[in-house]
Amino acid sequence: MFSAFQLDQVLLDNVKRAGYVKPTPIQASAIPPALAGRDVVATAETGSGKTAAFLLPLLQRMSALPRGRVGGLVLCPTREVALQTEHHARRLSRRTGLRSAVIYGGVGFEPQIKALRAGAEIVVATPGRLLDHLGRGNVDLRGVSLLVLDEADRLLDMGFLPDLKRILAHLPAGRQTLLFSATMPPEILALADRFMKNPARVAVGRPATPPKTVSQGVYPVAPDQKTVFLLHLIRQETAESVLVFTRTKHRADRLARQLTRAGVQAACLHGDRSQRQREAALEGYRNGSFRVLVATDLAARGLDIQGVTHVINYDLPAAPEDYIHRIGRTARAGASGQALSFVTADDARALREIEKTLGHPLRRLGTGESV
Ligand code: AMP
Repeated sequence: MFSAFQLDQVLLDNVKRAGYVKPTPIQASAIPPALAGRDVVATAETGSGKTAAFLLPLLQRMSALPRGRVGGLVLCPTREVALQTEHHARRLSRRTGLRSAVIYGGVGFEPQIKALRAGAEIVVATPGRLLDHLGRGNVDLRGVSLLVLDEADRLLDMGFLPDLKRILAHLPAGRQTLLFSATMPPEILALADRFMKNPARVAVGRPATPPKTVSQGVYPVAPDQKTVFLLHLIRQETAESVLVFTRTKHRADRLARQLTRAGVQAACLHGDRSQRQREAALEGYRNGSFRVLVATDLAARGLDIQGVTHVINYDLPAAPEDYIHRIGRTARAGASGQALSFVTADDARALREIEKTLGHPLRRLGTGESV
């Protein structure tokens, strides 16, 4: 029960309003040490409830601090993650009087400066743009008492380490730090060692385990038959909300065009699209205007989309971790889902690696059946 945590009633009410009844395992193990003021290093995937696991202690801590000064900072790897996190923060901070600002690149500075000047206590940001604001004197981080590094492995993957170090130099030494990461490579542990104080280590489950409620299968398909076969799958009634992954941005664009030409409403999400296009694609997919979202790995990792019935790997990913991340986009919060992969003769090796990571072979399906 959330009421077992030392949280203000207003936060408990907001948790209830969000529809959370029972803490998820990561929440149960990360919230108590975080509320006790300890640094925390947590291994947690997107979908585990990690966002509330750091936001609730953050909001609790902020509620006791003076208003109008940045007290809580969340660093995220991408603008999508930042936007989602800030959305969560708004929901969980209702009636607390706490305000948040979200900062990310690729858009104008003015609205962000306005939000900062309005006196946000919580800043959710991607590192590059936050540094730009720091350089221009738009934000003062000297009052930050709690820092969250969200999806720390991705932050490092994307080359943000130098930016992170520069940001850390602007923060008070006595702050509390919570680090969340899907994987714990040595670079993350070194970061924790250097910038955190005797952190509580929290890990839930085995990393790289797909949700149990996903049915997985592979279809052997000739490369030039992929689109035709995808259309066949999409036209099945159970395929209500389909997330399709391609290997490259170019292939994502091309596939989305092919689907649209075939009369399927498809949106497209990848790193070369403008901020506005990405938001429109996500929003349209979430609200059902698009039944299909075609995406690349980088754009889709960390996205929280409810109700994805099918994840389809139009192209098999090269790394087994990406396979796990992709199929984790369906069957969220206990719902069931299907993860189907197209494999060509060239994919034999990548498929073996994926099966090795999963610890079991994937079902081979004929093109006339689904899982
Ligand atoms: P996250 O891992 O933070 O991206 O969260 C994944 C999804 O789980 C989000 O849609 C959350 O709103 C939802 N969620 C978080 N905590 C809980 C909870 N205790 N009970 C039910 N759903 C939750």
